[in-house]
Amino acid sequence: MTTKRRPALRTLACPQCLQKAVLQRILYGMPGPDFDYKRYASGGCVVYPGQPDLACKECGWTGHRYFLENPDDIRDILDIDPRF
Ligand SMILES: [Zn+2]
Repeated sequence: MTTKRRPALRTLACPQCLQKAVLQRILYGMPGPDFDYKRYASGGCVVYPGQPDLACKECGWTGHRYFLENPDDIRDILDIDPRF
């Protein structure tokens, strides 16, 4: 069995502005009073298939973490993500 460790989010560079430590996870659902806006971006409460799970706080880019970690994978996110 092989385990592949995921790189930490802060080590990933934004593909648009190429800065590091600017990507935030997008959380969906109604943000509560304790929502941590410094750590996460709010994706709103409407959930639909293939939504991005990362947002750049510098340039506004949104996309999928999977493709940052697997740039050679050209499949559509809908073919990959079993959550939907
Ligand atoms: Zn960016």
